[in-house]
Amino acid sequence: MARPVLGARVVSLLALLVLWVSASTFAETHYILSLDVDYNSGTYEGTLAVTYGNPAPEPLAELFFRLYPNAATLYSGSSVEILDARVGDTPVETALYVDDTVLMVPLPKPLPPTQTTSVTLTFRGRASLRLDANPPVTHEYGILTKTPYALVLTSFYPLLAPYLDEGWALDPVGGIGDALFSEASSYDVTVRVDRLPTPIASGFLVDAVQDGDAVIYRFAADHARDFSLVLVSDGRIPRRASVDDLSVRVWFGPDHATAANRALEKARAAVTLYQGLIGPLPYDEIDIVEVPLQHIGGVELTGLVLLSETYTTDPYDLFFDILVSHELAHEWFYAAVGNDPVETPWLDEGLATYLSNVFLAEADSPDIAAGERDRWARSAELARSAHPEIPVTAPLYDFPDSSTYSALAYSGVAFELGAIRERIGDDAFFAALSDYYRTSLFSIATPLDLRRSFEAACGCAIDGALFPGTGTP
Ligand SMILES: [Zn+2]
Repeated sequence: MARPVLGARVVSLLALLVLWVSASTFAETHYILSLDVDYNSGTYEGTLAVTYGNPAPEPLAELFFRLYPNAATLYSGSSVEILDARVGDTPVETALYVDDTVLMVPLPKPLPPTQTTSVTLTFRGRASLRLDANPPVTHEYGILTKTPYALVLTSFYPLLAPYLDEGWALDPVGGIGDALFSEASSYDVTVRVDRLPTPIASGFLVDAVQDGDAVIYRFAADHARDFSLVLVSDGRIPRRASVDDLSVRVWFGPDHATAANRALEKARAAVTLYQGLIGPLPYDEIDIVEVPLQHIGGVELTGLVLLSETYTTDPYDLFFDILVSHELAHEWFYAAVGNDPVETPWLDEGLATYLSNVFLAEADSPDIAAGERDRWARSAELARSAHPEIPVTAPLYDFPDSSTYSALAYSGVAFELGAIRERIGDDAFFAALSDYYRTSLFSIATPLDLRRSFEAACGCAIDGALFPGTGTP
């Protein structure tokens, strides 16, 4: 199969800017986050002021926030508690649900559709200290964790749950996959921390002011699904590259120069490829940070990618290329275009897996990419024979374990995407992905959105394994 010709598919930046302007006519939720972090103990205190507009067609009597650090899986060993809650100036009595991962904030008066309210939450939390436990703590990823040289803070503050057509999305945090689910929002963040560690965060650094032995950093981020922060104290400095207006920075440990250089080279090539095929990212900067993780190779966040140091020891292994290019693809499909990671986890995972293979075909060789696609087919077939009742598009909670999930929602879905590409041709396939990206930018996309883009691009009906029961668009 012919490789994609990049120049022919470069999306007009102007067209995308016009779309951003129209997309931003609805008010994004705005977070003002003020944090005091104790780096050595991995604890933090903060105040969150949120301005939220009611997206529902009816009045809302309460708002729901997620407290992911309290989950017994993925984030186990960490915690967050609410010290004070106010709506406007009025103190309110909150309640916890879903294993303390859901915070209900009652509104003194129902909030009419399209109207805005402000909530202020004071909170205190701690990162897990257990990543070095032997044996490893089951189901703990290391995404809210303090280790000797790093404090990783993701999903660490109260995050508003998305309000969907079906109501608030309040799924329990499972033992596999991703949990973080939120609307694209704007952030104004102030972090006070000891001056030793270097901060690496979503968005961009506005300024840094010394305050005694501490530094107060201020960050801003727009259209961000999360604000995530890594503090590192091993003296690492970033390697940088620019792709158009986007800055890519790679932060690896000081002893991992070879891996860092290779990661930067791969990241620059992957971002260039995806910008050409899909469209420009609405962010100024992407940071790629090496940290200790377990059970996972990497994690995608807004403007920030975590890579497990387990896989940076052999940067010439094919999996290193796959990992870097997979996680970067999530900046398009997780961050810029959202989807429900519990009900439709295949949407972003399948696309990231597929795009990573397009990258392999470009950066390594078409034969290597084809070999990887053969591996998808074999692993999906094995999983299907063991679990014929689970479709590749199943919700996260239907998968019995992470290997079955990966074989079906990653490999199986990517294989099906390849079948669609073979059927409709390269031009229609990549035009569809670009259309899906532009039309779903900053929103929470559904399988029907992707199907519509495929059908519009090919002028044909697309059904089959990825789109069962979505009806005729
Ligand atoms: Zn992924």
